[in-house]
Amino acid sequence: MSAWVRTAGPVPGAVPETAVRLDKVTRTYGRGAGAVHALHDVSAAFARGTFTAVMGPSGSGKSTLLHCAAGLDRPTAGSVHLGTADLVRMSETQLARLRRERVGFVFQAFNLLPSLTVAQNITLPLRLAGRRPDRAWLTEITTRVGLADRTKRRPAELSGGQQQRVAIARALVTRPDVIFADEPTGALDPDTARDILGLLRTAVTDLGQTVVMVTHDPVAAAHTDAALFLSGGRIAGHLAAPTADEVTRRLSGLWSAA
Ligand code: ADP
Repeated sequence: MSAWVRTAGPVPGAVPETAVRLDKVTRTYGRGAGAVHALHDVSAAFARGTFTAVMGPSGSGKSTLLHCAAGLDRPTAGSVHLGTADLVRMSETQLARLRRERVGFVFQAFNLLPSLTVAQNITLPLRLAGRRPDRAWLTEITTRVGLADRTKRRPAELSGGQQQRVAIARALVTRPDVIFADEPTGALDPDTARDILGLLRTAVTDLGQTVVMVTHDPVAAAHTDAALFLSGGRIAGHLAAPTADEVTRRLSGLWSAA
């Protein structure tokens, strides 16, 4: 089976542009007999304007893949490209800048700053980059995430789902090349989780964003264009237009093999 994920891009029939590409990425922790191969010879490409779920049993390498793809961790071997930027060749300072300006992050814990308002939290990546918020864009994203009337509130005044909406708006504000989401619905009830997944879906479909999401939840994966499966640090398959049932079937096969 091909280890390359090719999902339908925004232009039907055209070969989609690649937002993120991993080529033969290996990430080994430790040395000698105790070495752990968290990723082994993994190649994957995430097309622009697509929503991908990264799935697999616990310990299969999902977080390591996300961290290597986002420039948070360095592969032991292989290369990672974000657009044309070669992450492996970048210095720590260059990587920090790339993460700030070209990557959006959404985590299970919302990671908002409690002393800042909703608007200040959303625009924080721009301020850190020394850029001025574009008022029209700010209005559009706060409206899209349903928080236009709450921009002056503090995180403690918001529900979990609303806090995750702020985190998504914060990820969108720089118009990044890609948004990496790590179990973004892990702390939410099923109804709120569905709203958040719908919002990520909209970011892809309406705004042309690229979203790569680590999740263990087949229902979450059913919102995506493709699921990429990992097992033991290797690509174990992919599924276009995944359904929750098919994802569950594939995952149970991987769990029993793990
Ligand atoms: P997943 O996200 O699928 O649960 P991870 O990417 O977190 O998997 O981990 C893959 C493997 O690498 C696991 O065996 C894990 O124990 C190991 N691992 C991850 N991070 C480290 C680390 N910092 N030091 C040593 N081993 C690690």
